Amino acid sequence: MTPWHEWRNAPPSAEFAVIGDPVAHSWSPRIHRAAFRALGWSYAYEAIRVPEDEFDDALAWLTRLGYRGLNVTLPLKACAARWADAVDEPSAALGALNTLCLPRSRGTNTDGPGFLDVLTALGIQPPGPVLLLGAGGTARTLAVVLARSGYEVRVWNRTRSRAEEMAAQVGLSALILDTPSAAGCGLVVDATSAGLRGEAPPVDWAGVAAGGWALAAAYGEAAAPFLANARQAGLQAVDGRAMLVAQAARSFEWWHGVPAPMEALRALA
Ligand code: NAP
Repeated sequence: MTPWHEWRNAPPSAEFAVIGDPVAHSWSPRIHRAAFRALGWSYAYEAIRVPEDEFDDALAWLTRLGYRGLNVTLPLKACAARWADAVDEPSAALGALNTLCLPRSRGTNTDGPGFLDVLTALGIQPPGPVLLLGAGGTARTLAVVLARSGYEVRVWNRTRSRAEEMAAQVGLSALILDTPSAAGCGLVVDATSAGLRGEAPPVDWAGVAAGGWALAAAYGEAAAPFLANARQAGLQAVDGRAMLVAQAARSFEWWHGVPAPMEALRALA
């Protein structure tokens, strides 16, 4: 377990951190510290709990303390998008940032590109179709990058109106499904948090493409129910650690301007 800090209670002296609420579960400190170690760098990377309504105060304080970069996790990604003065075009449309440069007030979203890196590494290519489960913050990012990359995206969410809202907000002409049918899909992506309660989204696996892939955004036990069902249906299954490492590598490169030491990072996944 990574030790973590409250931002108001003597935040640690460091250059980088992940902020969120909760934040204790985050693997980001492990990943970035492993990268620093592999390169022989002496930067420190911490995990700091920042409540949503204290976001602006915390960022001002961490900037004064000399922090250079932050990763941002739930529920602060939309706050980060409002905070940043400069955001690259592909990230701006997502309304959610996970990587900030404090001295320059810049931000980017590496979740989307990191997810695409995982697809590329697995040899998954457009056009799909792809069944995307969920309509929360993560699903929204994945829907946009999948559609931009030329995949045909089919979205199912427990609350259909949220899927419709999501599609309208990001200008996505996705098929919104009443039931999560994987028929014809070579890729099924679980971006729900159902696994946190030990549940799996109720996918109908009939007709799923043989040899296809199931990817969970969640990792560890939270990914297990969905991935077990996918394997039973004959799919190859990957949990969210691959995505986590890929987004971390992208953040690393964005901050430091050099490639992340991927071997050291993959050893953690
Ligand atoms: P979120 O905004 O809270 O959205 C949660 C989504 O899950 C909603 O669509 C919700 O549907 C659905 N859901 C919740 N319980 C469900 C159930 N029992 N059955 C079916 N659907 C259910 O969460 P998020 O930020 O998008 O995160 C989603 C998951 O991705 C989390 O497990 C998170 O840890 C993971 N994640 C991983 C990475 C990574 O790098 N690997 C990055 C970001 C997030 P309703 O709209 O009906 O409530």
